[in-house]
Amino acid sequence: LSGDRITALFLSPHFDDVALSCGGTVVQAAASGRATVATIFGGQPAGGLNAFAEFQHDRWGALGNAVDLRREEDLAALRALGASPSWLDFPDAIYRDDLYLSDDELFGPVKSGDVETSKSVCQAIAHLIDTSGSEVVYAPLGVGGHVDHLLTRDAAVNARHAGVELLLYEDLPYAAAEGAVGRWRARLPLRLSPLLVDVTAEIDARIRAIAAYRSQLPTIFRHHGHWESVVRAYASDLSGASDRYCEHVWRVVGERS
Ligand SMILES: [Zn+2]
Repeated sequence: LSGDRITALFLSPHFDDVALSCGGTVVQAAASGRATVATIFGGQPAGGLNAFAEFQHDRWGALGNAVDLRREEDLAALRALGASPSWLDFPDAIYRDDLYLSDDELFGPVKSGDVETSKSVCQAIAHLIDTSGSEVVYAPLGVGGHVDHLLTRDAAVNARHAGVELLLYEDLPYAAAEGAVGRWRARLPLRLSPLLVDVTAEIDARIRAIAAYRSQLPTIFRHHGHWESVVRAYASDLSGASDRYCEHVWRVVGERS
């Protein structure tokens, strides 16, 4: 190990996405070096909340400051994974003026009013990758199409260079919907090579980490079933055995012609 160098950098659009999607891979990276989980849209709302943001806060049971609460949850989750947090100040889509006012809009096209945010996220992620010194970077595949996931993924894809290996993780719980990974993967103009990571030894730590995001789980999993069953079933299906668990990541190997 060389001093403060980060050995694996995980880009999480929101607090919870990395633990949910590839927490076992984080535990392994942390065990063999230093893992950082950077939450891109971890900022405070700039002003008052629109009605949709108020509605989300209600669903989360967030009585006071929702971002402070979510940062507390993130600290506990990353302790369980052995990783350190880094919080970028971009506000979540629900806090960006009145751009996204419904679930349909959150999972629809990136709005033209988000151009400046998109540029700034690209710069920030490129800077983060360069200053981290990490040779391995994980970003979301963008399954489900949440606008913040797409912005994070596209920024990571733009920032990749010869010195960095970029791997895309399957966004849970959206990836648990039948056929979703294949559908979203097909939209990417990238050549991807699959990598199956055995996380049987790490699954319990991942479950403990996910459990820390208490305010989010009921909302995120409302269409999917009980969160722990969904996470375990997805990981054991990937392994092909009922007593083993895997995570699936996709290495970016080039452009698709
Ligand atoms: Zn998310």
